[in-house]
Amino acid sequence: MARLTQADLRQLNETFEERSPQELIRWAAEMFGDRLAALSSMQRGGSALCQMLSTLDVKIPVLFVDTGVLFQETYDTRDRIIEKYGLEVRTLMPKWSMEKQTQEHGVLYLSVEGQQQCCHMRKSEPLLAVSDQFDAMISSLRRSDGGNRSQLPILALDPQTNCIRINPLSTFSAEQLSEYIRENGVIVNPLHAQGYATIGCNRCTTPVMENEPGRAGRWRHLGPWSQYCGINPTDMMSPDKLSIDLPLDLVDRILGRETDFVI
Ligand code: SF4
Repeated sequence: MARLTQADLRQLNETFEERSPQELIRWAAEMFGDRLAALSSMQRGGSALCQMLSTLDVKIPVLFVDTGVLFQETYDTRDRIIEKYGLEVRTLMPKWSMEKQTQEHGVLYLSVEGQQQCCHMRKSEPLLAVSDQFDAMISSLRRSDGGNRSQLPILALDPQTNCIRINPLSTFSAEQLSEYIRENGVIVNPLHAQGYATIGCNRCTTPVMENEPGRAGRWRHLGPWSQYCGINPTDMMSPDKLSIDLPLDLVDRILGRETDFVI
């Protein structure tokens, strides 16, 4: 194994700034083969990512974390995406139902500390349970989401899963995403049309008013202290401090030390 740091990826990230999302997905598919997955929570960005995957000659499974307390519209969106785009969507579940969790720990999501624990058990743990099958995961995070995502690298390291996170939509503005969705008739979660800027669990997500930032609809009952669930490492810590361990030959190929890969 070899240590890969975020600093090692600086040059590659600079060249990737000019690449289209589709080029980045193709690069990832070539580089990581069957050790690559995509993540989608069936929000607008995740839906656009799924549609893109369906138009490329790649076979990448989509991981969907089902906390057990999502909106019915989200499950329906997942099912429509599977049917229309023909993707392999793997639904990941937490160990316990919300009922069992509440019996054991009480209603966690009503306090800041409890929210972190609940999100860890219901979102992060199901992903961690399968993460050793992968070296890289494609996500749909965008800098235009603002907040901690405004500096999001295209390639970011995830020490929790020991994977590279590839963010092909990183440079998409909100307008570009809307245009892509419109032009390609992407299936979108109908809750977006009801004022939900972002969509998570039904316990912790509300619509937002026009003058509010999108994240205001997440954990509104907890005030400004809770904005992220923790499943995305760059939401929680500066990317510069991140590192992971991957097989040496893979690190060499990623950094172009042995092969001269051109996309
Ligand atoms: S969003 Fe709320 S209900 Fe969902 S896992 Fe996090 S704290 Fe629990």
